[in-house]
Amino acid sequence: MCFSFMQTINIVWMKKDIRLNDHAALHAAQQANIPFLIVYLFEPEVLQRADVSLRHSQFIYHSLLDLKLNLRAQSHLLHILYGERKAIFRELFQQFHVDTIFSYRESGTESTWILDKEIGALFKQTGVNWKEFQRDAIQRGIKNRKGWDKHWYTVMHKDVQLYEPKTIQRINFEHSFFLPSDFKSDLEAYPSLYQPAGERMAWKYLKDFMDGRCKDYSRYISKPSESRTSCSRLSVYITYGNISVRQVYQYVKQHPNFNKYKFPIKSFLSRLKWQNHFIQKFEVQCDYEYRFLNPAYEEMSYKHTPKWILAWAEGKTGVPMIDASMRCLKATGWINFRMRAMLVSFLTHHLDQDWRNGAFILANYFLDFEPGIHYPQVQMQAGTTGVHTLRIYNPIKQGKEHDPKGIFVRKWIPELQNVPDNYIHEPWQMTEMEMLMLNFDLKRG
Ligand SMILES: Cc1cc2nc3c(=O)[nH]c(=O)nc-3n(C[C@H](O)[C@H](O)[C@H](O)COP(=O)(O)OP(=O)(O)OC[C@H]3O[C@@H](n4cnc5c(N)ncnc54)[C@H](O)[C@@H]3O)c2cc1C
Repeated sequence: MCFSFMQTINIVWMKKDIRLNDHAALHAAQQANIPFLIVYLFEPEVLQRADVSLRHSQFIYHSLLDLKLNLRAQSHLLHILYGERKAIFRELFQQFHVDTIFSYRESGTESTWILDKEIGALFKQTGVNWKEFQRDAIQRGIKNRKGWDKHWYTVMHKDVQLYEPKTIQRINFEHSFFLPSDFKSDLEAYPSLYQPAGERMAWKYLKDFMDGRCKDYSRYISKPSESRTSCSRLSVYITYGNISVRQVYQYVKQHPNFNKYKFPIKSFLSRLKWQNHFIQKFEVQCDYEYRFLNPAYEEMSYKHTPKWILAWAEGKTGVPMIDASMRCLKATGWINFRMRAMLVSFLTHHLDQDWRNGAFILANYFLDFEPGIHYPQVQMQAGTTGVHTLRIYNPIKQGKEHDPKGIFVRKWIPELQNVPDNYIHEPWQMTEMEMLMLNFDLKRG
């Protein structure tokens, strides 16, 4: 290949790090003083994976649109491309002399790592440098987690790099990797019940949480209705990197309410650390996605009842707390920790179905789907770790304790609108006479 007539450029390849600030790859590209492009790739091969759903792509797409707005006059830097990664990079290498590709190292599933290895080989073969940065405090290739806690705090205390626009030469990239029109229409139709995407929204949620919502964090964490505002709701922004864990940590620590609400905020910060901790563990062993955490359970047999799995997935089991949680999750993309745990417990313990039948369904529904947290959590709730105490959540007890007046249940199951409070979590306990008087048919709901 002759480089003499080709423009030399660098590339920032964004993955689950869609933000401008505290972005090591972007910062490095700016320091390099070579014109650069920012690319995001929607890859058909990735979109087809069982744990990837349209809502994930919608959130990503709207985060990218927000990024374009934040780039303002430099919005031309960002290219949203659709295609197979090798084909896209080959095209870039045809048109430019690409010096370095800057990106974060993606902590995904085994399939993500395989794709990254393949593209790494192509870069090597073509003589292109690939400079990868670690996400938050996650380290690749460590044999054990000795000293990891200390490392986490060191990373959290490092300076945050703010994006400062510099004049960058415009790069004309001619390509045919446009989003197919039907896919683009799907991406644009962003349901209003999902959390709004992007870096600015991440900050809005964080500020709002620290300005007041945080005071009830611990009190309401297990309540399906109240937790929607008392929890931070940052998970989806952290998952797609609209904000870094370090940015959250530093903002929280310097906020005046940190001392005022020390107890709930400390509890919040420990969960923030778990986020990295879980992903770190998954980095070391990622086959939890399909293998039992404790191999002794591999021999365990479950029933296989597709009709029951479907009823569970659709929120049509007839158990009010299960159905309300599932319908709420389906519609909004979020449900609190306790209800997530209860949904898995019900599927695996009450319905006796293999956790692998539910893991992908939930992954598809969670807007904040993060493999490193999701798969181990599913297995913990299914009781297949062999380490944690087995917890079976009784959905009736959960309902009575966390939704005593049935507000949450009635919101998501209109069929139960007229059922009195004392029966709302067990409508089957009503006498025939009571059902008749309420014009309620148990079979119809
Ligand atoms: C079966 C199951 C599956 C789950 N799958 C996911 C997932 O795919 N993605 C995901 O982000 N969380 C997952 N969680 C953990 C947890 O439910 C969510 O992180 C939390 O509900 C998100 O809401 P929030 O941002 O308001 O959290 P907050 O309570 O405000 O916590 C702050 C942050 O800490 C992290 N965090 C909170 N709880 C946990 C936890 N138990 N483990 C690790 N990190 C945590 C999240 O990044 C969260 O944004 C799962 C839990 C269960 C039981």
